[in-house]
Amino acid sequence: MNYFSLNHSSPIASFKQAVVNGIAPDRGLYYPENITPISQDFIDHITEYSNEEIAFEVIKQFIGDEIPPEKLKEIIKKTISFDFPVVAIEKNIGSLELYHGPTMAFKDVGARFMSQCLEYFNQDNKEDITVLVATSGDTGGAVANGFLNAKGIQVVILYPSGKVSDIQEKQLTTLGNNITALEVDGVFDDCQEMVKTAFLDEEILKKLTSANSINVARWLPQMFYFFFAYKKLYKTHKDIVFSVPSGNFGNVCAGMMAQQLGLPVKHFIAANNDNNVVTRYLKTQLYAPVKSVQTISNAMDVGDPSNFIRIQEIYKNKFDSLQKNLSSFSFNNSQTRKAMLDIYTNHDYVADPHGAVGYLGCKAYLELSLIHI
Ligand SMILES: *Cc1c(COP(=O)(O)O)cnc(C)c1O
Repeated sequence: MNYFSLNHSSPIASFKQAVVNGIAPDRGLYYPENITPISQDFIDHITEYSNEEIAFEVIKQFIGDEIPPEKLKEIIKKTISFDFPVVAIEKNIGSLELYHGPTMAFKDVGARFMSQCLEYFNQDNKEDITVLVATSGDTGGAVANGFLNAKGIQVVILYPSGKVSDIQEKQLTTLGNNITALEVDGVFDDCQEMVKTAFLDEEILKKLTSANSINVARWLPQMFYFFFAYKKLYKTHKDIVFSVPSGNFGNVCAGMMAQQLGLPVKHFIAANNDNNVVTRYLKTQLYAPVKSVQTISNAMDVGDPSNFIRIQEIYKNKFDSLQKNLSSFSFNNSQTRKAMLDIYTNHDYVADPHGAVGYLGCKAYLELSLIHI
């Protein structure tokens, strides 16, 4: 599969080049040249396939012949070796639990997939590749765990001092070997800025790649979740709306790619915290990124979501098509805390702040839909 840069002034890249580069030389995000829907027959019989078979069917066109099928199956098997349950919370609202991986971040899937692809692509190379990543908490842990002992790969993680939880700090700093964590005296934006600066240096860039969702190998495997959820709900629910707690918009964008592959999805909701540039955009048509503010759902504290440009591409920059497929709502800390308490008190379910924001997104959407009827 070939990828082009969304800034349109870089050469076309293979999957391998896109993974190894992370970002295109013109600083644009890579996007697949073609998206071919998978067969309707496959989707109609989804309950008869294992998660591994579904994942293979979903991802294979994005890799093409650059990884042999048997190797790709092995990579998938190691990537998704845990469960992805959908747990009912209340009538018509369920929680797609993506925290059953080794670091409890949904990013485990992308990190494990990417590390194995990179290891495969770099196996004959004498020089190590360095993966440089900034984290507000979840990404770093998943990347550290997913890349631990990957051959030919060094990982450097930048994290803001005092801004990640104790367990996250341990996940980042205690593995050793090829994982180096650097504590930065600053906030997440400062870490992100340092990463961006490194990527501007052409000499360093040759040996460097990124492991956040701008990298296609971390972003695209997230399509699996949406297919797995569809499979789980196939017999009982027809019109599925996904409310995705969003920060950098990689996850919701992967859901939209799944929809491009033919997955029946009725609607998407991007649930935001106070970092609500997209919520505001859908209201005003003005895209106005701002500096991020700190909230209790810190993995969503992003002021200028990198993947939004991919979403624009999916809908061909047509605001109307986007608006038809995506709603967005934002919730502050006290609404989030109240939702966590409500979910626990009324439904005996423990939601973390990100999940609670997603739940509030569902409620807001349902309320609006009722008004429209
Ligand atoms: C990373 C993360 C998000 C944000 O996902 P994006 O793909 O960046 O939008 C939301 N919730 C949790 C728990 C996360 O770890």
